[in-house]
Amino acid sequence: KEVAAAMTHELTARGVVIETSARATSIARTAGAIDIATPRTVVRARRLVNCAGLYSDVVARMAGARVDVRIIPFRGEYYMIRPERRDIVRGLIYPVPDPEFPFLGVHLTRTVHGEVEAGPNAVLAFAREGYRFGRVSPSELAGTLAYRGFWQMARRYWRMGSYEMYRSLSKGAFVQALQRLVPALRPEDVTRGGAGVRAQAVSPDGSLVDDFRIVAEADAIHVLNAPSPGATASLAIGRHIAGLAAETFDLT
Ligand SMILES: Cc1cc2nc3c(=O)[nH]c(=O)nc-3n(C[C@H](O)[C@H](O)[C@H](O)COP(=O)(O)OP(=O)(O)OC[C@H]3O[C@@H](n4cnc5c(N)ncnc54)[C@H](O)[C@@H]3O)c2cc1C
Repeated sequence: KEVAAAMTHELTARGVVIETSARATSIARTAGAIDIATPRTVVRARRLVNCAGLYSDVVARMAGARVDVRIIPFRGEYYMIRPERRDIVRGLIYPVPDPEFPFLGVHLTRTVHGEVEAGPNAVLAFAREGYRFGRVSPSELAGTLAYRGFWQMARRYWRMGSYEMYRSLSKGAFVQALQRLVPALRPEDVTRGGAGVRAQAVSPDGSLVDDFRIVAEADAIHVLNAPSPGATASLAIGRHIAGLAAETFDLT
């Protein structure tokens, strides 16, 4: 939050206008212009950079791009280590990644504020912004279920998917996974924390796109997959996209 506030401060000082609570609901092209409609206003642009995360495929299609992936939302849930037990984790503890599966696996992170978080898992969310288990969007869920790539993915990863669902519902199973990294951890040492939702691009053949997917067109750039460490690397990615924009849009 503080990083975003600092970026906002620097960007607005340089004349950038940031509109919040302005969901793009439709995009129309008129001679030489792109009209992006939001509930309050229509923004007219000559070029478009779409980095809409969980809705990046929707926005790309709105803009008329041919998109060969669909975003499937995966919730990543965390537990927090109780303050009196935080000293059992003094650094960052990661598992060896499974190259078959792009999600990292649960790990333990000491935050800059001194808290210790444990997670995240990777559970299919029933809404793109499904930050809680009970949050269901019938239309978005129907969209996921109607996608061929979802069923191909389910066929490939059903075992892992079922285990993740079970681990989401069972604190014991979650803690067991953490005990592989910190054997001294006990179920009573952790409490439920928050959750985030990964915007995972999935190909029609069911494969999970595990790298950045940035598509450049004559007047638009679409960021269709920005996995971790997309936040840590955001400034470098921003520089890359700025370079791509200068080249593609012939801005030099
Ligand atoms: C549980 C979890 C843990 C993670 N851990 C890490 C980590 O430790 N380190 C790391 O570097 N990365 C981590 N990531 C990944 C990181 O969050 C992403 O790589 C990063 O957020 C991608 O940035 P983005 O700008 O592409 O998308 P987002 O951050 O998702 O931003 C997209 C923005 O677009 C807006 N938007 C969506 N639809 C519309 C629309 N129609 N109109 C207008 N605006 C719209 C959204 O409101 C949002 O503000 C984690 C992600 C999750 C889910």
